[in-house]
Amino acid sequence: MLDSIAVPCGWDKGEIRANMFRHTYCAARLQTLDQGAPVSPWTVGRELGHGGHSLVNRVYGHLGEVRHRSEQVEYRIEHFERILTKRLAALDAWTRKPTICQGKSDRTGMPCRVRTGLSPEGFCLWHDPARRDEAKRRRHGKRKA
Ligand SMILES: [Zn+2]
Repeated sequence: MLDSIAVPCGWDKGEIRANMFRHTYCAARLQTLDQGAPVSPWTVGRELGHGGHSLVNRVYGHLGEVRHRSEQVEYRIEHFERILTKRLAALDAWTRKPTICQGKSDRTGMPCRVRTGLSPEGFCLWHDPARRDEAKRRRHGKRKA
């Protein structure tokens, strides 16, 4: 399921896994305040349970550039906009991509209902102008056989 979103955003298949959310939570939690003071790594490690303290130690090491503190765990997109620009643009394009062919029947003018093998522009093999000749050749070849 994660791949269905991660791959269109440019990550490799299998690159984004659920355990990364634990890492992300840990990083976000370490930036919170506990009664006005930065939360202690010990508290965060305890909250994470099994393996929490070693995760905190690993995450704590690369929080150096973070200068954000909040009362609660938050993951604000504006804090990551710079490094996620390309991925967010890819996600935006992917969410707008048609899921049904945008073509119409030449004969009846009815919308095409094909949902698989769509081009990035949202056309099936038959209705994609760039691939239409190829489709005709294939169809013609089948009749001969
Ligand atoms: Zn079509």
